[in-house]
Amino acid sequence: WLKRYLNFGPERPLWCFVADELLAHRAVSADLNVDEALRYNTYLQSWAPYQSALNLKSKDLATMMAVGRKYGVRAEAIAIDREILDTMPIWHHKFSDGDRRLFNSPENVVSCLKDKHRLRWVKDARELANKAGSNRHTHRVDCRCAACRVTRAITGCGHPHKCYLKAQALLNSIEDKWDPRVMQPEDYIRKNLLRDQEPTAHEDENTADFDTRVTTKGTLADVFRIFTNDESNGAHTAPTTKFANEQQPMITVFTDGSAIDNDTEDVKAGAGVFFGDGDTRNKALRVPEMLGPSNQVGEVLAIKEAIEAAPLDAPL
Ligand SMILES: [Zn+2]
Ligand SMILES: [Zn+2]
Repeated sequence: WLKRYLNFGPERPLWCFVADELLAHRAVSADLNVDEALRYNTYLQSWAPYQSALNLKSKDLATMMAVGRKYGVRAEAIAIDREILDTMPIWHHKFSDGDRRLFNSPENVVSCLKDKHRLRWVKDARELANKAGSNRHTHRVDCRCAACRVTRAITGCGHPHKCYLKAQALLNSIEDKWDPRVMQPEDYIRKNLLRDQEPTAHEDENTADFDTRVTTKGTLADVFRIFTNDESNGAHTAPTTKFANEQQPMITVFTDGSAIDNDTEDVKAGAGVFFGDGDTRNKALRVPEMLGPSNQVGEVLAIKEAIEAAPLDAPL
């Protein structure tokens, strides 16, 4: 149920929209200052509904929400495609550090954005904020630039410049990872490391390119992760996985794991990494107790150590 509820694609079942309305109607009292018309989804925004069946007036909804809490369902990804970032609600954005005041005041500008501009999503805010940079735009309330004239004509807005600035402020409150205006890993040029150079004897059907852009694509439904822990992710920006421009030579590393008394209490396991004769990066490691020693863990540990010891931008 929860998975279907969090499917924001075109196939989203009708009951999900009913659930959205019911949950929006039952926001906890601390969040009553979030305009009910702007409460889209608690997973995408910084307001919460009541949790008990009694308060939600629905046992099914309460159960569904309880599952999400119990198993740590939340929006989380290493890096996110700009098309997805654009579809997040701009109001009370989950990853905004803005307080309620940012979203509620000044009242005349906020209601102009909501009612006249019909500002709803990050994309709307981005497009509106962009108008402040239009050719010949001035800060005057009666600015005659093309962007302001069109904005006035379509929306009836009385102070376009103020609305552009507010849209900018809303966007500025979003952390970089969720801000479509900043450089994101998807902007990096894809290094097709293996295809760029002559195939070698080591390349076979087991060789795979690692896409360094590490970007989640698709729809909002694709940014949800389950079994996360309670701590929020400290990474507010996407990682830098930009590679050097010049092609590095292919490196071959040999790895292995092994265990004595595998599958017993007394199991002892080790990992080995071999770059070549006399190479200082060669390693022989005992698999520590905390990793739960086994032959398989030894194999994986050896691979992890090899990757960490090898240059980041060389095909491995
Ligand atoms: Zn203007
Ligand atoms: Zn306006």
